[in-house]
Amino acid sequence: MKSIYSTPTELLRRSKLKRTSCREGILSVIMESDEALSESEIRDRLGSTYDRTTFYRSFRTLEEHGLLHRIIIPDQPVKYAVDMHHDHSGQGHAHHFCRACHSVRCLESVRFHTDHIPASFTVEQADVVIKGVCKTCNHLGR
Ligand SMILES: [Zn+2]
Ligand SMILES: [Zn+2]
Repeated sequence: MKSIYSTPTELLRRSKLKRTSCREGILSVIMESDEALSESEIRDRLGSTYDRTTFYRSFRTLEEHGLLHRIIIPDQPVKYAVDMHHDHSGQGHAHHFCRACHSVRCLESVRFHTDHIPASFTVEQADVVIKGVCKTCNHLGR
């Protein structure tokens, strides 16, 4: 996934996180993919370079600091994408889910504000999912 921050190193620096090869590896795998990935897909692509503990610790750190965000779609594995804008101002973006290949992608251009939600509701997670057919599947006529 293309980021406005070009490298994992830069992302870590902006979040004031120490550079470790595992953190950089996780970010690279996701940034090189053109779709959101599940935890096990990320682990598979990283190979056996890091043990489980290192992987999960690094993964959680990246998520806690908002460098990764989780995308929850009913009946699908939880997917993760790199946070392009690193924006915690109550703005979120929508995600696209392809019904044919089940790929999930960030729709950075489709944004919404959680501050429009009535104050009587506590927001814990906001998911806007646009369902349809992705570019690749459209080409293949799925
Ligand atoms: Zn598709
Ligand atoms: Zn996203």
